[in-house]
Amino acid sequence: MKKWVLLIRIGLLLAATSPVCYAQVDTKWKIHDLNRPVPPVIDPGTPSTQDSPGRPPSDAVVLFDGKDLSKWAHKDGSAAKWKVENGYMETVPKTGYLYTRDAFGDCQLHVEFDEPTPPKGEGQGRGNSGVFLHGLYEIQVLDSYENKTYADGQASAVYGQYPPLVNASRPPGQWQMYDIVFHGPRFDKEGKLTRPARVTVLHNGALVQDNVELSGPTANGARPPYAPQPEKLPLALQDHNNPIRFRNIWIRELN
Ligand code: MG
Repeated sequence: MKKWVLLIRIGLLLAATSPVCYAQVDTKWKIHDLNRPVPPVIDPGTPSTQDSPGRPPSDAVVLFDGKDLSKWAHKDGSAAKWKVENGYMETVPKTGYLYTRDAFGDCQLHVEFDEPTPPKGEGQGRGNSGVFLHGLYEIQVLDSYENKTYADGQASAVYGQYPPLVNASRPPGQWQMYDIVFHGPRFDKEGKLTRPARVTVLHNGALVQDNVELSGPTANGARPPYAPQPEKLPLALQDHNNPIRFRNIWIRELN
């Protein structure tokens, strides 16, 4: 067998057995087939401004609309003790992380946050919170406007794994946005990892995480391996002892 034929065969075999599945053109439908089902129609909502949050897409699950924390609880299930006023929620230091009462799988997530002004503290101590996908994988929330810290711990980093591609932070006191696409990990019946988690993040509209593969859950100063987990888990917001404001949080589960 010629060397290149062998290489192509090995390539095809690897592609066929690869645990990562990418979308492929569905050959069941002819090109421009009028019988092919069309996607559902949604109202895409409106963008946010500094003065007011936008309207979420019509098929989103709204997790916080500025009025109450009924969709959230602390880890032990007790009612959320974070403050709600003027259309935002705010971390109350030492009350603990907030978790959604419902569990979610692969998703598109929108979160808006506002860092304290005037800024207080330095490095990791300035405006620290976090969006924990599946309650396990942290997209860092930090005041990274003219605030030096380690690259894999600044705002919109996958904490301890990936620095953002650019620093798209706004000054403290202005509303900022994360738009996140998250695909959780998969495990076989024996609990062996078959597909690592992947995440894409836009910070204030700029791409900062481009479909990166996570090494495992977030930990402090460590990169622990994956442990078997359900496909759906609650989302969490971090209490890192800094008063961060959040508004307009919504999620769309992906099938
Ligand atoms: Mg954090």
